[in-house]
Amino acid sequence: MSNQQFELIVGWLYPTLMSTYGDRGNVIVLERRCQWRRYYVNVLPLDQNATADDIKSVDLIVGGGAQDRQQEIVMRDLQGAKAEAMREKIENGTPGVFTCGSPQLLGHYYEPGVGQRIQGLGILDMVSVHPGENVRRCIGNLVVEVTATRLVQDLKEMLNGATPYLIGFENHGGRTKLGKVEALGRVVYGLGNNGEDGTEGAFYQNAIATYSHGPLLPKNPFVADWLIQTALRLKYQQPITLSPINETLAMQAREVMLKRLKVNLPTPAAAKV
Ligand code: GLN
Repeated sequence: MSNQQFELIVGWLYPTLMSTYGDRGNVIVLERRCQWRRYYVNVLPLDQNATADDIKSVDLIVGGGAQDRQQEIVMRDLQGAKAEAMREKIENGTPGVFTCGSPQLLGHYYEPGVGQRIQGLGILDMVSVHPGENVRRCIGNLVVEVTATRLVQDLKEMLNGATPYLIGFENHGGRTKLGKVEALGRVVYGLGNNGEDGTEGAFYQNAIATYSHGPLLPKNPFVADWLIQTALRLKYQQPITLSPINETLAMQAREVMLKRLKVNLPTPAAAKV
């Protein structure tokens, strides 16, 4: 099969309500990296007008951050058949990247600083609680070593054996406690899930949940390629390896940030994805 025939549908969760923190950059990166390789790519907004069948039709899911009020509106809409479709997709291994407000919705619940507990979809075994408007938000740069077992293996393969580190920026009031779900990684710099236990994000089936904006994918393009590769393999049921893309600028940006934060990674080569 030639590259031209590959096609991916990227489902974008509530683009208007859940794009407060610039996470649309993740969608743009996925789109561009597919186009540079001459794959067809369609971005399908999964908003209030979308149906459960729309959700079922996507090959990859992107969900961004939102403020508490918008999260509540989204949760009122993501019920019944639509909620079931989301659950089915994630359980069946559809890859996705869910940032900040989105993972809070995939957990059991999110308690805002003010107002009622918002029930989540319960797909990720975790809960998130905002300790109140007077408690400091978790804001700042974030560096994370990916520790989720299968993801580390896959990413190491893509990075010629280097340890995968994510660089991003967090901005959240909610503190997340994981249940049985595996953490995405270990905080090297910043606060992560709750500023206490050193965990950041979660990884379940092929869903990446993270507090890392940045947005995540432009700063960590190898994660974008993992998502694309996983989506293509699942859809076409054949071994697919992506052609490399020149990452010089992304690498330089990573180096600059690590230097600015004075983060010395144990294996310097690992910074250079
Ligand atoms: N409302 C959530 C919080 O403050 C999510 C914020 C976000 O998505 N950046 O924890």
